[in-house]
Amino acid sequence: MPLQATIMSDSNTFDVIIIGGGPAGLTTAIYLAKAGNKVGYIERNIPGGKIVNLPLITNYPGYKSIPGAQLALNMYEQAEEAGATLIYGEVVTIDQYNEYHVVYTSDHAVKYCHSLVIATGMNNTKLPIENINKYEHKFISYCAICDGVLTKNKIVLVVGGNNNAINNAIYLSKICEKVYIINQFNEIENNEEIKKFTNVEIINNAKIVKFDEENNILKNVTIENINTHEIEIIDASYIFVYIGNETSVNFLPEKYRQILNENKKIIVNDKMETTIPGLYAVGDVTNNNFNQISICVGDGAKAALNICKYLNKFKK
Ligand SMILES: Cc1cc2nc3c(=O)[nH]c(=O)nc-3n(C[C@H](O)[C@H](O)[C@H](O)COP(=O)(O)OP(=O)(O)OC[C@H]3O[C@@H](n4cnc5c(N)ncnc54)[C@H](O)[C@@H]3O)c2cc1C
Repeated sequence: MPLQATIMSDSNTFDVIIIGGGPAGLTTAIYLAKAGNKVGYIERNIPGGKIVNLPLITNYPGYKSIPGAQLALNMYEQAEEAGATLIYGEVVTIDQYNEYHVVYTSDHAVKYCHSLVIATGMNNTKLPIENINKYEHKFISYCAICDGVLTKNKIVLVVGGNNNAINNAIYLSKICEKVYIINQFNEIENNEEIKKFTNVEIINNAKIVKFDEENNILKNVTIENINTHEIEIIDASYIFVYIGNETSVNFLPEKYRQILNENKKIIVNDKMETTIPGLYAVGDVTNNNFNQISICVGDGAKAALNICKYLNKFKK
């Protein structure tokens, strides 16, 4: 949508817009709204981010243990009470217009702000199969703890060769009839831990090439050996994918690529600023090395306090 076609009004203009309502975005929203700023945060799912699906968090200070969904709800309620506005929607691109940052969402809405905060976290890396999104929550999952319960006594595939894949295969082996680990490489051949679980079979040097489904029910999966090109068909009913994750930055247009490092993480300084004036980033989407809630919360507080100073130059 061309910028000229949108009229700035009180309802679409904010001091600060935050993209993403996970722990990093919500903390930024709480601090900024409490400081008297007009704050909108845009979230495509329910607020809370990844922690919504975590059964129990035991390393977040102040709670010996707390279900992720409860912590997310607490943060959301605190942002509401502080006066931050939740805007449902998916950000598809951003731009700049005079002294404003401009945010476009998938429902063709346009919002303006003096300062923009990117708090979009990370996404699971998807299987390179056409239309894969269509099957998520049907028979493709990235969370055995969340969806393993749907696979009782069934045959499932775990895709990946990292520790996360192995731990989740072990978890699933106690629920499912059989668990196949499909690993592109051969590094889990000698894993002693996994050998104890007799219903887990490792297929090394292999990849999924296609699957057959009917009415969103998985019928079978075709596996190809990368070296020999031999084909095997497995009658699995669920696929759990653990092939890594990547930052959620696809909405950034080409001219913003300068703020990303080689791993597509947003480079920030100790004020959580990018090199573009008024543009900040917080949480897992940044080039910090540790993805933890307490770090995201610290990022959010730091960014908000620095943004308060930045906004002074626009006060009349
Ligand atoms: C399995 C697992 C277990 C974990 N356990 C712990 C733990 O025990 N303790 C701990 O401290 N940390 C844990 N973590 C890490 C913790 O969950 C993350 O560090 C934290 O959630 C990151 O917060 P965030 O706000 O940066 O991003 P996220 O939580 O990922 O939130 C980002 C939000 O942005 C939204 N979004 C993304 N793109 C767009 C867009 N274009 N438009 C609109 N909205 C968008 C997403 O929907 C999401 O809600 C765990 C992570 C995982 C995966």
